[in-house]
Amino acid sequence: MRKTWVLLGLLVAACGGGGGGRRSGGHGKYYEATVVRQGDLKAEHFKALGQQLPGMLDDTPVLTEDAQGRQTLTPAAKLRPAAQQALYIVLTSGDDNAQEFDLRVRMADDRRVPVTVRRAPGGGFIVREGAIGERLARGKGEGLQERYGIGPLTEQGAEWTPRAREVLDLTLDALDPPERKVLEGMPFIRRVRGDDPSHGALYHQMNCQAEIFLYDSALKSDTDQFVGEPESPLPTSTRTLLHEVGHALHQRPGRVAWCNLERRLKSINDRVAASNARGERFNRDQESLSGLDRKRELAAIEAEQKDIAADRKAFERETEEARDLVQGGPLLESYRKVLGKHSAVTRYGETSLKESFAESYSLYRADPAALKRLLPDVFAYFERGEHLSAR
Ligand SMILES: [Zn+2]
Repeated sequence: MRKTWVLLGLLVAACGGGGGGRRSGGHGKYYEATVVRQGDLKAEHFKALGQQLPGMLDDTPVLTEDAQGRQTLTPAAKLRPAAQQALYIVLTSGDDNAQEFDLRVRMADDRRVPVTVRRAPGGGFIVREGAIGERLARGKGEGLQERYGIGPLTEQGAEWTPRAREVLDLTLDALDPPERKVLEGMPFIRRVRGDDPSHGALYHQMNCQAEIFLYDSALKSDTDQFVGEPESPLPTSTRTLLHEVGHALHQRPGRVAWCNLERRLKSINDRVAASNARGERFNRDQESLSGLDRKRELAAIEAEQKDIAADRKAFERETEEARDLVQGGPLLESYRKVLGKHSAVTRYGETSLKESFAESYSLYRADPAALKRLLPDVFAYFERGEHLSAR
């Protein structure tokens, strides 16, 4: 009797790794495209800025916006120092492609002020300020696994500090229950850095298994940036983790297919083992069987083996289908359609359709107003829950 083992091929679907992406021209199409490190500034800088900014702006109109979205045309000299400094950062960053900046402006006394600067549709800037010293949103560090049904928090050379746990809490808190369900039992792993040091986090999937890594660099960006509204700023590391949740969402159909395949694989291998055992029994006992019984048993074994072979063929076909689902699949296709010819929400999102999806999704959960402004159709797509219904 021939032994027939069926083994699944290994498949890795990791985030990133796309290499150099498309860089297209245009104005104001990306959310917060530039990371700005802010040095120690003295009071004199802010004093001089009040005099220089009107000249730098050169008649570009500035609208201040309150928490209710009411806008007022404001002369640059009348802006508060944090708003002036935010505009200064935007003007000197030289990034015409950035549509929106969420900055934690560093004042002379080292306090931070969350300020959003956006390009106004008709030209000029819209500036919206939070309170001086406004703290980033806090989460709860305890009971994450129990509260959200995720897998264990494990440490591989880096610690799940209270702050890292809080960021994870804020991330999971931002999700809808069906989205959390996708993360059920998924381990979250802390490491100092990834293979690619530019990554702040990583979604890693191998067949049915999936895990999310959080690296040190993600937590470092929280000093100078935030995400969301300046009245209730979220740490930008939340968006980094939400990006990985986005990968988990678009990979879900493929992962479910792999999980089913792993169960099928086990059942096929069980059948193979049983059939092999029956064959061995036959080989051993066939002398004691009557001619007719021997013929019957042999025919039965052969029929069974034929059936297993057909099952195996079907399994191979399904493996190919699962591979296709991991590569793309209907969920990413539906996103591609709704994105149309628009740019991704960030430069990083331009590297691939998967990264574009993850960037849009992370903005949808961390700063929905920003996504609605940049890509209203994609915002509506997530509102309709299409990222969960496509399979
Ligand atoms: Zn990614």
